[in-house]
Amino acid sequence: MEPDSSALRALFYGLGVHSSFFGATFFRVKEIGRGSEQILGFSGRVHSGNDTIAMTTEKLCSTYNRGRFAPSTTGRAHPGTLLAALLCWLDARHIGAEVILRLEDLDRERTKPGYVDQLERDLAWFGLDWSARTLQSDARERHGQALDRLVREGRVYGCDCSRATVRAVGRPAPDGSHAYAGTCRAQRVRVDGWRDDPRPLRLHLDSRMIELHDESGEDLSGNAAKLFGDPILRRRDGAFAYHFASVLDDASAGVDRVVRGRDLAPSTILQVALQQTLGLATPRYRHHCLFLERRGDKLSKLHGAVDVETLRTRYSGEELCGTLASFVGLVSPGTSCRPVDLVADFDWARVCRGDVELRIRENGGLSLAG
Ligand SMILES: [Zn+2]
Repeated sequence: MEPDSSALRALFYGLGVHSSFFGATFFRVKEIGRGSEQILGFSGRVHSGNDTIAMTTEKLCSTYNRGRFAPSTTGRAHPGTLLAALLCWLDARHIGAEVILRLEDLDRERTKPGYVDQLERDLAWFGLDWSARTLQSDARERHGQALDRLVREGRVYGCDCSRATVRAVGRPAPDGSHAYAGTCRAQRVRVDGWRDDPRPLRLHLDSRMIELHDESGEDLSGNAAKLFGDPILRRRDGAFAYHFASVLDDASAGVDRVVRGRDLAPSTILQVALQQTLGLATPRYRHHCLFLERRGDKLSKLHGAVDVETLRTRYSGEELCGTLASFVGLVSPGTSCRPVDLVADFDWARVCRGDVELRIRENGGLSLAG
């Protein structure tokens, strides 16, 4: 039984008045903060005769329209990919927002034919579906137009520095790269010349402090120009750079929620600086925990150690979904479920904050370490 939206809306406004009457047994009143706007929505269960209706009414009141999952297409999906996809998908679906799949295939050297289709098949096997699906390489012309505009504004220059020079001169940047010192700033590219310019093209970024907190409360404020230096917009191999393409694509698709792994948090301020330079809105960011693995004495991000091809020999889609969801605290161990089964009760408060160390057994099975 699906209550229609006007009935839910009426119930919601009724609840505003009578929330104490309904009490916490049936409703969880939720505050979704966004800047100074405070929206009250709720999710929970209503008992109606013999039926229990699971409800999520935040979709009636949420200001968010669209999230996105944007994996790079440089290999098969692995448990970390699936966790990121699941959390991003649940985040959007539980507030009634759309979630799009954007396949980031700009890295020509590392994207192999077949990876794109395989990634889509792996995600579908896991139980995820998408409101729309886009291929980042289809947007090259749009990326070029945005770069053209920055060139006309006199903000783009060609950089002759080798990677070794940037490493030697630059301070370590928060994302593990090296801040670019702005050595080549005087080499502005011409409006009619940048397309044939073989050099990496960089943006002269304004130096200023930007205040930014992600939705989990982490303070990501900083001066991107100081922390990272002028970012590359188009790389030596002719591909548009990750952050540049990513902010352009988020804006053009109307993405207003970006949910992704904690490893990407340190570079968020650079994305926001790019958005501000391009006159684009900043989506709400949220960063989540990662799966880690132990290599020798070091814990590092689980990456490619076991891919979905191997996992499929060991798990059904439902078993793997339940297993990964249990690792982050969403369901009890041993649960088998589809992503859609987790939508009604999804709550970020139930997702563990800290990273999760996994062990990969010889038969391809996954378990919590320790
Ligand atoms: Zn340079």
